[in-house]
Amino acid sequence: MDLASPVTSLPGVGPIMAKKLSKLGLSSIFDLLYHLPFRYEDRSQISSLFTVQPGETVTIIGKIESIKNEFTRSRKLIQKAVVSDDSGPIDIVWFNQTFLTRTLRVGDIIGLHGKVDFFGPKKSIISPDYEQTTNNPALIHMGRIVPIYPETAGVSSKWLRAKIFPLLGHLDNIPPFDPNSLRHIHFPESLDQVAPAHRRLAFDELFLLQLTSLIHKQSWHQIKLTHPFHIDQAKILQFVSSLPFTLTPSQNQSLKEILADLSLPHPMNRLLEGDVGSGKTVVATIAAYSTHLNGFQTLILAPTQILASQHYITLKSLFEPLGINVDIITSSHKAIQQASHVIVGTHALLNKSFNRIGLVVIDEQHRFGVTQRTLAASKGESPHILTMTATPIPRTVALSLYGDLDLSVLTDPPQGRLKVKTWVVPETKRAAAYEWIKSLITDRQSQAFIVCPFIEESESVKSVKAATVEFKKLKETFAKNRLGLLHGKLKAKEKDEVINKFRAGELDILVTTPVVEVGLDIPNATLMVIEAAERFGLAQLHQLRGRVGRSSDQSYCLLFSDSDTQRLKALETHHSGIELAEIDLRLRGPGQIYGTAQHGTPQLKIAAYTDLSLIEKAKKEAKEIFPDLDQYPLLHKLTQKDKIALVQPN
Ligand code: ADP
Ligand code: MG
Repeated sequence: MDLASPVTSLPGVGPIMAKKLSKLGLSSIFDLLYHLPFRYEDRSQISSLFTVQPGETVTIIGKIESIKNEFTRSRKLIQKAVVSDDSGPIDIVWFNQTFLTRTLRVGDIIGLHGKVDFFGPKKSIISPDYEQTTNNPALIHMGRIVPIYPETAGVSSKWLRAKIFPLLGHLDNIPPFDPNSLRHIHFPESLDQVAPAHRRLAFDELFLLQLTSLIHKQSWHQIKLTHPFHIDQAKILQFVSSLPFTLTPSQNQSLKEILADLSLPHPMNRLLEGDVGSGKTVVATIAAYSTHLNGFQTLILAPTQILASQHYITLKSLFEPLGINVDIITSSHKAIQQASHVIVGTHALLNKSFNRIGLVVIDEQHRFGVTQRTLAASKGESPHILTMTATPIPRTVALSLYGDLDLSVLTDPPQGRLKVKTWVVPETKRAAAYEWIKSLITDRQSQAFIVCPFIEESESVKSVKAATVEFKKLKETFAKNRLGLLHGKLKAKEKDEVINKFRAGELDILVTTPVVEVGLDIPNATLMVIEAAERFGLAQLHQLRGRVGRSSDQSYCLLFSDSDTQRLKALETHHSGIELAEIDLRLRGPGQIYGTAQHGTPQLKIAAYTDLSLIEKAKKEAKEIFPDLDQYPLLHKLTQKDKIALVQPN
């Protein structure tokens, strides 16, 4: 057995227990050791029974004088014991734990931890935690500071302690990990030992993450392409100049980086990061064009049908004049010509096979799980991969998180964009706000989104119902205007229909659930109204607001809310995703990154994304030992696993 061994290699841990442990993300011995306590209980003081008082929580060690099952007057089964130490006896009471009369025997010396109270007239310790000392070289749960762990059904802190404690005795030889920091974090002799141990373990976590990235990157670079792309500069320039706008400097820069990658003899693996509305789609489009010029197909994967349809429309309008076929695959658009040059789709396209895929674009990549991304990347023969995200992760953090990806960032919005004027609006001003919206619609032909209360994480029957009810109400309020309703339970055709109407200016107001959050691009819409804004994270609000402000007209965002306004007001003054990310990070705590309630983004268990100096340090050290891992067989094993031991995609 070593640290990379599965938990089932521990005595007494079978498949059933392994399944329970997997709920905590614990599959190896290593995982178990890095399952850290979130608090401690000081049980180091052993009290003398003579001195204990009702109301106190105490730890004692004594001898069992008697133990038996008894019925109370209300016919409840209890276990009653008398335990004594040098200073005298005390009663112990447990409720309905008949096995205790079989496991605990008269004469046993046991440790007990629990609350002293009156049971009837007598001073007793009620339902204490217990530990037998017979055959135990050392007490684990008593007479020390004990760890309290994140638990799940069937996996208690006591169970975890009993398994982790003996492991800590066998850690002498696990370079480059430090056995003492593990001992100190699980069973500190004093609480002063905890913080330095935690820092060291955070380092280990980041170090392993960095190392795994280096390994992935290396193996990626070892793939040889049989047909490296030729980049036809002239044709690409011609295409770029045919676009209805000029590219921003950072679009040009990213494009340069991407085209350089495409001309290499190994596949590209690049992340294009850019705030909402920064214009990622067109960059991907040019990469698809270059792929086509080399005789290969491009797959573009989008997280929602709405977004897939939109990309389909955009790409078609740009590509059709050049004789490039664009097709779409979603669960409801199934007809597909194998010969298409560019294929847009939702996850439904992951079930299809293709012949000549040269480039896979994954839009809003944080919306996809690891397996979906891997599946997408396996289409065709080692295609180039371009992933895109609007999740605004600071550059250093992005590099450490996605260390195996190359990174391009769109830093400047397209020219002439105005900041979206944003206000938090209390209920008392709702009527006035509605009048103002009406006047914008009549005077300036503005179009508005009204996003209904967010009810659950994913769209459910409940949120659809809420949207439908709200829609009826709004139809009365905005009786003179044209309203449409959009939610995820509509048929694909109905969705397309309502969005197309809105896009064509045939609707003034689109009432919707938060399905519009991702990627929707309707530049004429300049008004975003969000109901019950306090229910959204800043990340989502920023994404939703990003649906407007996509033309040179002034756009507005109204956040209806009567609570949590302090937090919401951050949106009035901050317009950059990164700034909001940092605020969110402060408000939510360090391990979670902004906007990643979705799957796919690794959540750190120990380290904090804000700890840039530790991230840098881990990176430096990983680079120092890489690629020479022979002296560290454990590291070699841990980084071989598909799943990085410490980092769980949530
Ligand atoms: P995102 O990065 O959020 O995916 P999109 O690719 O949807 O952004 O682009 C947002 C809007 O900006 C689209 O309407 C697109 O046509 C437009 N756009 C992209 N690049 C430019 C540019 N350089 N100048 C002006 N408009 C642009
Ligand atoms: Mg987009």
